[in-house]
Amino acid sequence: MKDLRFIHDRKIKPHSYIEDKQAVTDFHDKGKKYNNKYKKLGENKSEYHKFSLKDNSNVWKVFKDAFLILSGGLCPVCEQDISNYDDIEHFRPKQHYWWLAYDYKNYAPYCKLCNSTYKRTQFPLLNNAQQVDFKTKLKINNEKPLLFNPLKDNPLELFQIRLFYKATTGKGELHFEPLESLNKNSYQYKKAKTTIDLYNLNNHIKQDTTRYNRLSNRFGDVQQLVDAHKSFKINPYKKNEIEYFKILKNMRINKKLGITEFITKQQYK
Ligand SMILES: [Zn+2]
Repeated sequence: MKDLRFIHDRKIKPHSYIEDKQAVTDFHDKGKKYNNKYKKLGENKSEYHKFSLKDNSNVWKVFKDAFLILSGGLCPVCEQDISNYDDIEHFRPKQHYWWLAYDYKNYAPYCKLCNSTYKRTQFPLLNNAQQVDFKTKLKINNEKPLLFNPLKDNPLELFQIRLFYKATTGKGELHFEPLESLNKNSYQYKKAKTTIDLYNLNNHIKQDTTRYNRLSNRFGDVQQLVDAHKSFKINPYKKNEIEYFKILKNMRINKKLGITEFITKQQYK
């Protein structure tokens, strides 16, 4: 899980990472035209929406490289490496939230598995009665999405990780769990649980060999960090401290892993 809240917080906006300024202008123009036309249409709205989204699917890709730089080239949900071949995810699905199809604040770079295989057009809410009115767009802030939003949520307030050795594969594994201090009836707990289930985060082997294989080396790195962290905690002599921070530094610089935060904040089992 990666925390991407800084992307829209800081003064340097994603636009500044895009070299083709004309493409950015075209993006905003196309978005404005689309929203204006959509508002004026009567009964033909859904047909236009379908056609237009298909027709314009390359337009929002102008943000892809910028978001890849900002996210450190990792999917914010499963943290596998992503590239230009992966997806720009619309957090609120463009199929329903039509006015957010061209809103880059609704974008994040996701791997194909998380975006196209698992999430697709799903957008579960805590209470469907609080869903926005798709005509007037009113009261969107009442919605309580049951999915981790890397651009708004702090993963450390939702999740913890569990590391264990699996005898059948002879490898270490890493599972996500809702943070144990959360009340099981709370919105936060339900959000964490739904995120883990919907993205199938803990069932890599059965359903998702590619992702599992790509991540298995990373589990080893995390285990190494945990071992170093434990010895540092038990025996905080200089030698252990140096070793721990050396491993941590390598992971941060080379891989920019969000899950290292769970270890430094001691949210692991
Ligand atoms: Zn992913």
